[in-house]
Amino acid sequence: MHVQYRTLTDAPLEGKRVLLRAGFDVPIEHDAVTDTTRIASMVPTMRFVLDHGAALVIVAHQDRPKGRVVPSMSQRPLVAVLQQLLDRPVLFASSCIGAETKRLADALQPGDVLLLENVRFEPGEEANDAAFARQLAELGDLYVNDAFANCHRTHASMVALATLLPSYAGLQLCDELTHLSGVIDDPRHPMTLVIGGAKIETKVPVLSSFLPCADHILLGGGIANTCLAARGHALGRSLFEQEYIAQAKTIFDQDHRSVLTLPSDLRVAVHPQDGDVQVRSVDGISSDEAAFDLGPNSISTYTSIIRGSSTIVWNGPLGYYESERFSVGSVALARAIAEATAAGATSILGGGDTIDLLRAHGIALSSFTFVSMGGGAMLAFISGKELPALRALSVAS
Ligand code: ADP
Ligand code: MG
Repeated sequence: MHVQYRTLTDAPLEGKRVLLRAGFDVPIEHDAVTDTTRIASMVPTMRFVLDHGAALVIVAHQDRPKGRVVPSMSQRPLVAVLQQLLDRPVLFASSCIGAETKRLADALQPGDVLLLENVRFEPGEEANDAAFARQLAELGDLYVNDAFANCHRTHASMVALATLLPSYAGLQLCDELTHLSGVIDDPRHPMTLVIGGAKIETKVPVLSSFLPCADHILLGGGIANTCLAARGHALGRSLFEQEYIAQAKTIFDQDHRSVLTLPSDLRVAVHPQDGDVQVRSVDGISSDEAAFDLGPNSISTYTSIIRGSSTIVWNGPLGYYESERFSVGSVALARAIAEATAAGATSILGGGDTIDLLRAHGIALSSFTFVSMGGGAMLAFISGKELPALRALSVAS
């Protein structure tokens, strides 16, 4: 049932200027990029364009400046990184639109690269403004979307722009769609979904859509706390969302095959950073304690389910992983998924914090079948929602 998108490999590139929507959004400190992984991962797409006789105009965002110029969110620090990765000079336009930017774009020769300033500095971006998109469209002949992580956003450079130029899916976007479609179209069973993290409302749609087809859904982190509270457990000062307790109850009401698994024990403390850490059953948490991680019984239940799974999808840390002493459950789960993958299971992971956790613990992304660059976009896609930017690509002329 999946829409076929025209892909970069079908595009007539010779002599054209390609407007590439990239999804870099990298960490920057003191005007230097501190982690270049996401830029490096786009080198194949950028090289493909350049090696096929086209010039590249890169449209990207950084952080959330909310339609204003915020100097600390400038794209300028990416110039040096791109020059090194692409082995050529990279021009920079200090505004993503305007006469000077148009002049730079018009002068591009095949093989040239122009990076535009943060597209979110302009209010028209998040408003999906048509006039703003037309100004962007003047800078190129073709449009390529390679920003999967942003495809759930109805923004001008993702949606309006795609309908103004001949539009194509980039190599990374195709890779994301291929791997994520496999999970929803024809997963090998048993299939296990692991959902952690903080905000339940972003995860409810994926829970609802996997309830009928998953064999196990393992919950951890803040979401598990909200669900435990919905089941009547007293959680002390644990992070949970009181206003979503009713919604958590409806999820349990839909669980006719008992696929949902909640933690049976938790690691708790009075303060996240210091003092004793205790293991408590879900009924043993006192009013001054908070649950920050899975307990050992929960870890052993979860990892043994993982060992018996043929498809595993994971988003969201299972605890307050930023503190070393509460990353135990998430790390045990990551290692169990890596081992299951080595033994033949298909594993798909995604989410900013989930990837951070792996990096912080030296767990190679190559230990998994596929690591999605999308958090919200991955959840929306595997929940079967139509992503606005993909819809725009499919209707583009
Ligand atoms: P991702 O970015 O991978 O999609 P989320 O943003 O949904 O993940 O959730 C990650 C956040 O949830 C982290 O900041 C983590 O500390 C927090 N979190 C998870 N479990 C707990 C908990 N028990 N107590 C406090 N914070 C938690
Ligand atoms: Mg996050």
